[in-house]
Amino acid sequence: MKTFLIGVMLLCFTSSPSACEFDNVTFDNKFSTARLTACKELASDRYLLIIKPENTPINDSAWYSFKVSSKAQSVINVTLKYTDGNQRYLPKISSDGESWEYIPFKKNRRHENKISFDLKVDKTSVWVAGQEIINNEHYISWNEELVQKTAFKLAVLGKSEEGRNIYQLHSSSQSNEWLVIVGRMHPPEITGALALFPFVGEFSINQELPNKFRERFNVLVIPNLNPDGVEKGNWRHNANGVDLNRDWVTLKQRETQLVHNKLQEIEARGGKIIFAIDFHSTRGNVFYTMPTDYGVFPPLLVNNWLKELDRLSKNFNVVIKPGNNPDKGVFKQYIADNYKVQAVTYEMGDNENRKIITSIAKLAAQTLMTELLKTKKEQFLGDN
Ligand SMILES: [Zn+2]
Repeated sequence: MKTFLIGVMLLCFTSSPSACEFDNVTFDNKFSTARLTACKELASDRYLLIIKPENTPINDSAWYSFKVSSKAQSVINVTLKYTDGNQRYLPKISSDGESWEYIPFKKNRRHENKISFDLKVDKTSVWVAGQEIINNEHYISWNEELVQKTAFKLAVLGKSEEGRNIYQLHSSSQSNEWLVIVGRMHPPEITGALALFPFVGEFSINQELPNKFRERFNVLVIPNLNPDGVEKGNWRHNANGVDLNRDWVTLKQRETQLVHNKLQEIEARGGKIIFAIDFHSTRGNVFYTMPTDYGVFPPLLVNNWLKELDRLSKNFNVVIKPGNNPDKGVFKQYIADNYKVQAVTYEMGDNENRKIITSIAKLAAQTLMTELLKTKKEQFLGDN
């Protein structure tokens, strides 16, 4: 029986890599962030690619990422079919993994979980993915560059469920006030990552406002809280199949525990968390906030900040959605409930113009620094 089972398992494993290798065309899913579950040749130049999530039930955010090459130069037609999700991310192509172009595609009239497009292929592999690929190595390079250029220090916060490093960046001040910035709980939410990089960058540069800010405030950044999910090309979850941004009440996952323990340790040593922000993507730009009467201090800080951002930003409409969901397990609410201060979920639209994402992130950082610097220490404690 044992031998038979092993035989069956071997068959399953050996059949999976070859499932996407055809006479001429090869679809490759053996790289960081890849997600391509199965392939079928429908005709000599037509292929059906199946994209499945890591587990279900799951948020409707079908991430896909694969490479494709062909022995002979040709044009092939590819249909993507998502199980447990509908079309969300617009297909993009890259020859170097760095610069990306949109691929014109057709939606299936009857099935929202199918799209198709033509691809010019030859023996040089190209990447096709739902968004730009930002993998764990990208964060490591970005971390190192930030540390080289600025006063931020890099450390390992701890290990993910599968033993990957979760990094923290820290700029220390003389005071006990701490700003906390968290990113990439949800692996495919690339526009959130594209906002976090320039947002944090703005806090780190050598200019009057950020220098003044860092003199007063500690800044703690955890840019990539879900490296396992990023590596596996997960649609939403960590290696345990759990949505990290629904885990902040029960704190059952290693990744959320690491952040919680860090913040508890800061407060145990006399520190004060004064504000927190986590970066995400969704269909449209939105800032999820805590209601002003929720008992977070100072009550009007976020409204004042976002009003100023709205006033100064051109081509961008600041949408504010206050909400109170005590049992949902989101980070924003965790901060409000545990530290009695404001927190914001910063959501960038999936298809927002990349230059606007950058310019808004910089402006958001500048206006937030100004607003926090205006706030007296006692106001974060609700004493004033
Ligand atoms: Zn998210």
